[in-house]
Amino acid sequence: MIKYKLICNDCKLMFDSWFASSHEYEKLKKKNFLNCVNCKSEKVEKTLMTPQLMNNSKKKDIKKKEIKIKDVKRKIKEYQKFIKNNFEYVGKNFAYEARTIHYENKKKDKGIYGTASTDEMKELHDEGINAEIIPWIKDENN
Ligand SMILES: [Zn+2]
Repeated sequence: MIKYKLICNDCKLMFDSWFASSHEYEKLKKKNFLNCVNCKSEKVEKTLMTPQLMNNSKKKDIKKKEIKIKDVKRKIKEYQKFIKNNFEYVGKNFAYEARTIHYENKKKDKGIYGTASTDEMKELHDEGINAEIIPWIKDENN
């Protein structure tokens, strides 16, 4: 079911009317089966207001999902902030830097983070170097 706000071009009355679908509305309109509830004029048109669907549980579901995604994104961003504050960014040199720390026993006061390909990650793992893959959202600001 879909609800349209209809307007009568004769008496300018606005009223709501339910239709099975937008298609049904078009059909009735074509056959001049739409009448103004007040003056019975056939010059009835739908206004450009957003139609309301009677069954909006789907909408709610979408909203719920959006909230969930927002929630996850917020958590990832918090995590990113933590990493940015506590780790040193090494960009694409991540694999190199990770090896330097591992093999030369270079102790940095901060851990490192950066980007690495899946191959590099696999190699590091094979060499016994601990590296975690975390989801990363690109900052819109920079
Ligand atoms: Zn009317």
